[in-house]
Amino acid sequence: MEIRNDPRFRGIEPLKRKLWLSSPTMHGEELQYITEAYRTNWMSTVGENINELERLAENYIGVRHAVALSSGTAALHLAVKLAGERLYGQPRVGHGTLEGRRVFCTDMTFDATVNPVAYEGGEAVFIDTEGGTWNMDPEALRIAFERYPDVRLVVVAHLYGTPGKMEGIRSLCRQHQALLIEDAAESLGATYQGKQTGAFGDYSIISFNGNKIITGSCGGMLLVEGEREANKARKWSTQSREDAPWYQHEELGYNYRMSNVIAGVVRGQWGHLEEHIKAKKRVYERYREGLKGLPLRMNPYEEGISRPNYWLSCILIDPDAMCETVRGERQALYVGEPGKSCPDEILGALAAFHMEGRPIWKPMHMQPIYRNHAFVTREGNGRGRSNAYIEEGGAVDAGADIFNRGLCLPSDNKMTEEEQGLVIEVVRRCFG
Ligand SMILES: *Cc1c(COP(=O)(O)O)cnc(C)c1O
Repeated sequence: MEIRNDPRFRGIEPLKRKLWLSSPTMHGEELQYITEAYRTNWMSTVGENINELERLAENYIGVRHAVALSSGTAALHLAVKLAGERLYGQPRVGHGTLEGRRVFCTDMTFDATVNPVAYEGGEAVFIDTEGGTWNMDPEALRIAFERYPDVRLVVVAHLYGTPGKMEGIRSLCRQHQALLIEDAAESLGATYQGKQTGAFGDYSIISFNGNKIITGSCGGMLLVEGEREANKARKWSTQSREDAPWYQHEELGYNYRMSNVIAGVVRGQWGHLEEHIKAKKRVYERYREGLKGLPLRMNPYEEGISRPNYWLSCILIDPDAMCETVRGERQALYVGEPGKSCPDEILGALAAFHMEGRPIWKPMHMQPIYRNHAFVTREGNGRGRSNAYIEEGGAVDAGADIFNRGLCLPSDNKMTEEEQGLVIEVVRRCFG
């Protein structure tokens, strides 16, 4: 049945203007900075906006060196290369820095977190998720170090703007002399024990992609402590040109540097980061309030320990309120049932009324591309348990469970209270 004709939604009118999951919010200063770049003809990958943006990031996040790059993915690639060379030395041209090496990676994340490991010839081993923050489970990481004691690199992400359990993860890295790469692409402005995400990794990255909390339309940054490594990344990002009168190359290069125009957009956005976080927090809290009484919970964080940036508001449906559902590789089927619902039904209903939600990022161990990669849970080998429902704090395959029962709600910080009220009403009626 066409969802809009479903009697449960009687009386609800579709929105005239589409409500986005998370869209850019511009303020005006951006234009000033890009106009200045245009006026002075600094239209390349050199200029005042880039320099100022790097200073802004260093001061705000509390790291020694920020390197402005073309994307968060480029930043992750250079982070992986820096870590790989530090651990295993410089490879021959045409070979990756991580060739044949295993790397522990966050499992439930966007694929850009883990692909750079493969770019460098490494093999990602996925670490299960914990229910308290929806990030890498330190307990599963502990088990992984027992199973693979020679691993020296961990890549961790903070999903949806909620900081992961960094104390446990960092102490395990220290104990096993492993380097940590921190993917703070989604969590700019979030803090853990008072410290900014992006300041925990040996190498960290942030992103200014169009849907992130502040944006340059694209862009990203690498954050490092060492000046030598920052300069190395700058050099790699501009085709590894040596200091010579002609194009002289001793190392492989990339075209990864940020444009001074993009840097102008981000520079103009930076002063509005706190305001964006406040708006996102209001969205999250209105959902928490408005969805009370339904058999679901919001994406959790560690109260008193971390301050999320509330980038996306998500929900997790209680196991006994889930209608029967099967997901194939590309399609979902579900059987509607009074009083129950499921992510695909809710997403379909939201879309029918012009509201954009999204499934939880499908865990990497469930992705066809990484089918042959190891996956470690608290129980050890996590393969073959993908669809098991678990209780809160349960031990097996938390990622698949959150993917099955969770979804992201429209979280645009320009959403009006009225529009958000309609989202809440649609979700409510799904359980009718
Ligand atoms: C967006 C994102 C990235 C990639 O950033 P880009 O700037 O889009 O390349 C990496 N990791 C996570 C978790 C992201 O959400």
